[in-house]
Formats: sequence, structure tokens, C-alpha cells
Amino acid sequence: MKLYTLVLGDYQVNCYLVSDEVGRAVIIDPGYEPERILRAVKERNLEVKAIFLTHGHFDHIGAVKPLVQALQCPVYVHPKEATLPPYLTQGLLWFNEEYAEGDVVSVGDLSFRVIETPGHTNGSVCLLCEDHLFSGDTLFAGSCGRTDLGGSMLDMLASLKKLAALEGNYRVHCGHGPETDLDTERRENPYIHQRSFR
Ligand SMILES: [Zn+2]
Repeated sequence: MKLYTLVLGDYQVNCYLVSDEVGRAVIIDPGYEPERILRAVKERNLEVKAIFLTHGHFDHIGAVKPLVQALQCPVYVHPKEATLPPYLTQGLLWFNEEYAEGDVVSVGDLSFRVIETPGHTNGSVCLLCEDHLFSGDTLFAGSCGRTDLGGSMLDMLASLKKLAALEGNYRVHCGHGPETDLDTERRENPYIHQRSFR
């Protein structure tokens, strides 16, 4: 796998270009700056097969429409994100494919497995590919995403425990901020260890 990270816009969202060895690629969370993303795609000779969204907040989706116009590729999101109120999507949420728990989407030689991780939003997902975990705004290095923008703290704590229970270690690529790895978060992330009562 080849991985390129672009940090985009005022909210400094991490947009990931993930490709196999011959350049068949996906774009994860294109939040802003479509021309910059397209330049990166061209420079690296990538053939973009799909756009994956970890959730529907505006800072993760702002470049979707111009990219679809330029690349003619499908856009995947969890169907629950369609119920986010407009002030959280700024009307920018557009998709034509849905994915949910356990779905596997193949792109070239890469397979992405969808893990439902509600909490930041009801339809937040994480994506697993090889030993990489794309965690959106669910798991951050030493922290987790906000739950007051269409989500739930109880769901978040359950989702963090679900990620901690995955087998083995993963490099974790977050929606904002630095990369981490799952073993470090299992040891040090206070939210993973927080007790919760339903
Ligand atoms: Zn978000």
C-alpha cells in the first residue's frame, strides 16, 4: 500500500490518498481544496476508483462534488449520515453508494473493511486495510472526537472499546492530528479506559 496524507482547510482535516502498487486508489475524507487533491492525484499518477467518507461532517466532505465531477468515481458513506442536520453538513453531503458493518470494498489489490463506530456521529465508520486503521473522528491520538455534533458519548465509549478489541496492532490514521498506533492507544488513551453505564 502507498499512503499520502494531505492536511486540508481551516479545520486541518487529514485527507488520505491510499493506493495499491500500480496506482489504483481511494480518497478518504476530501474535506477541502479539490484542486490540491487533484494535483496530488495527477502528480502520483493515481487512478481514483472511489471516495470513502468516515462521516458526513462538512469539514470531511467539502471537496466531494468537484472531485466526482473530475474523477467520475463512486462515493461511499454510511446511510445514517443522511440524517445529519444541514448545519453539520452545510448541504455538501453527496454520495451514491452506502457501506455498513462488515462490508468489504475492494480497490485494485486493496480491500477495505468497514467497522461501524457510532459516537462522533451515528453513522461514523472506521476503515481497515492491511495493518492500517483509518479512524475518522472516532479515535484520535490520546483522545477521541467530539460527541456534541450529532453523536453520543455512550456510543463513542462503546466504539472505542470495539476498536481496542480488534486483534493485533494497527497504524491509526486519524481524521485530525498525528498518526498513532492501536497498541499505544490501548495503553494510554483515557477514553478507551473510561467506564460507561447505559
Ligand atoms: Zn467530524
